[in-house]
Amino acid sequence: MTRPKKSLGQNFLIDRNVAKKIVRTLELKRSDRVVEVGPGKGALTSFLLEELDALTAIEIDDVLSASLREKIGPNLKVIHRDVLEVDLPALAGELGGKVRIVGNIPYNITSPILFWIIDSSQHVDDCTLMMQREVAERLVAKPRTKEYGILSIFAQYYARPEFRFTVPAGAFQPPPEVVSAVISLDFRQRHSPPASDDSFFRLLVRSVFGQRRKTLRNGLRGMGIPAERLGQIPGDFNRRPEELTVSEFVALADRLASVASDLPLTLRGNRS
Ligand code: SAM
Repeated sequence: MTRPKKSLGQNFLIDRNVAKKIVRTLELKRSDRVVEVGPGKGALTSFLLEELDALTAIEIDDVLSASLREKIGPNLKVIHRDVLEVDLPALAGELGGKVRIVGNIPYNITSPILFWIIDSSQHVDDCTLMMQREVAERLVAKPRTKEYGILSIFAQYYARPEFRFTVPAGAFQPPPEVVSAVISLDFRQRHSPPASDDSFFRLLVRSVFGQRRKTLRNGLRGMGIPAERLGQIPGDFNRRPEELTVSEFVALADRLASVASDLPLTLRGNRS
């Protein structure tokens, strides 16, 4: 067996009880269309397949994907690719509808994987992922905490996140330097009502949190919305971004869109 590759975040789960506990939280039906991200040596894969008719797994490592194909029967389809290059809507289409995603993912690409899922969330029922505990805590963080930020807002806007349980480093080989946690995001329960313009909502959240110490007024100016425009809509623009709930961000995005749609808006940092 080759050595674990740090660059691919290869910390393999060796605690079978943790693997079983993750699979139990999924409450699988045999016909569920499940996609596993980063199956590695198959710690979760074999338990998943005990409860499923079929499973699709995406693994970038050539040695591991070949050995999974050999080790596990024909009801496992292994896609040997970088998960971020997989067209998720197309995969869901091939599988016949919305998918469920599960994975003990490589921690170095947690955010890109989350956005890979969020960006196609209309094709996903839910995802259950093991990640660094700090990141899991950010996904469920409430306003006015230091963990609350872009990831919290997007997770709570596109889904209902649920922190499941923590997993100690000793459950892995080699052990990671951090404590881990399992979290689920249920995309069937996204925030309601949605923003009238999703991309404007995202630009707003990213821009003001890019300058989280600034007031909304200053953050919005940085995004290209001058203070005079703010006079046309209700709101306290002396607040800081971490004080606003997801609902307040949605309402703010809708109001701003009505007075700023003619402006060339940019993410702070792209603008001089
Ligand atoms: N699920 C296994 C387990 O629990 O033991 C392995 C977990 S390990 C933390 C992450 C896995 O993701 C490794 O097998 C690694 O090769 C794979 N991986 C890393 N980057 C990837 C990528 N961009 N696309 C797909 N798989 C990736």
